[in-house]
Amino acid sequence: MSIVEYAAARILSPLSALLQKPLSLVDAQSPEARSAFSVRSPIPRLAIVSNDGKPFTDDQRLLLHEIFEVIRAAEENDARFRELESRMMSLQRENLDLVVRNRVLSEVTTRDSLTGLYNRWYVLEKIEGEINRSLRHGSPVSLLMIDIDHFKWVNDTYGHAVGDQVLQTVGRTLKESCRVYDVPGRYGGEEFCVVLPETRLSATPIIAERIRARVAETGTPANGVHLAVTASIGAAGIDSPPEDGILSPSALIDRADRALYTAKSRGRNRVEMWDSQLLEIPPDTVNH
Ligand code: GH3
Ligand code: MG
Ligand code: MG
Repeated sequence: MSIVEYAAARILSPLSALLQKPLSLVDAQSPEARSAFSVRSPIPRLAIVSNDGKPFTDDQRLLLHEIFEVIRAAEENDARFRELESRMMSLQRENLDLVVRNRVLSEVTTRDSLTGLYNRWYVLEKIEGEINRSLRHGSPVSLLMIDIDHFKWVNDTYGHAVGDQVLQTVGRTLKESCRVYDVPGRYGGEEFCVVLPETRLSATPIIAERIRARVAETGTPANGVHLAVTASIGAAGIDSPPEDGILSPSALIDRADRALYTAKSRGRNRVEMWDSQLLEIPPDTVNH
C-alpha cells in the first residue's frame, strides 16, 4: 500500500465527519474528479468528491488543498526513505560480501590446505606476537617442534597419497590435543609445531608427551591396515623473566629444533626439552 492509499484510507472518514458530508476518493483523472463537486490534486493524483449534491465551500476547498499538500510531502518523504532504505540494503549486501571474501582470503592465507592447521607464515607471526607479549607482560611462551619419524618410509611403502592421509591424521590429532588458545601449525613437509602461550618450558613435557602418545596410537586406514606413525618432539620456551636475555623468534625455533634433533638422535618417538648443553650441537648438523 502506498503512503497515498494509506493516507486516503485514514483521512476519508474523519474528513467526512469534520465536513459533515459523505465523501469519496477518486483518481484525479476520472470523470467524477472533473465535476463541480470535487477538489482535485495533481500530486498526489487524487480527488475528493462531495456526495451530498452540494459543492464544497471556499473554506472547505482550502482545507482539502492543505490536506493534499500534507499527503504530497509525506509521499515525497516516503519515496526518499525507500530509496535510502534500498541503498542501505545494497550497502549491507556489499559489506556482507566483503566480510565473506575477507574470511575466505584470510583462511587461504593462514591455513595449510592439506591439514587445515595454521600454515608456517601464520605460526611465525604468532610466535613473534607471543614473544612481544611475553616481553611486555612478562608472561611465558613455549614452542613444540614435531617431526614424524621415518616418514619417507611411509611414502616409499604406501605411496604419496597415503602419506598425505597420514599427515591429515596427525594434523587432526594435534588439533584435538591442544587447548583452545594453543596454536597448532604445519611448519612444512612432515614437520608440525605448536605455539603454547602462557606456558613455561617446565610445563611442556606433559603437553608434548600427551601429543606424542596420541600420535603413536592414532592410526590411518591404508591398504587394509591401520597405519600408525610416531613423532619426535623438541620443546623450547621463554620463561618470565627471561633468564638468558631476549630471544628472537628464530632463536626460539632454533632451540626447539635442537631439542627435536636430540629426540631424533636418542631414538625417535620421544620428547626432549631444550637446555643450554644442546648449544654444543653445531647448527648445520640439525637435519631431521
Ligand atoms: P626422520 O625420522 O629422520 O624424520 O625421517 P623422515 O623419513 O621422516 O625424514 P626425511 O626428511 O628423510 O623425509 C621426509 C619425507 O616427507 C620426504 C618427503 O617427500 C615427505 N613429505 C614432505 N612433505 C610431504 C607431503 O606434503 N606429502 C607427503 N606424502 N610426503 C611429504
Ligand atoms: Mg621426519
Ligand atoms: Mg623433517
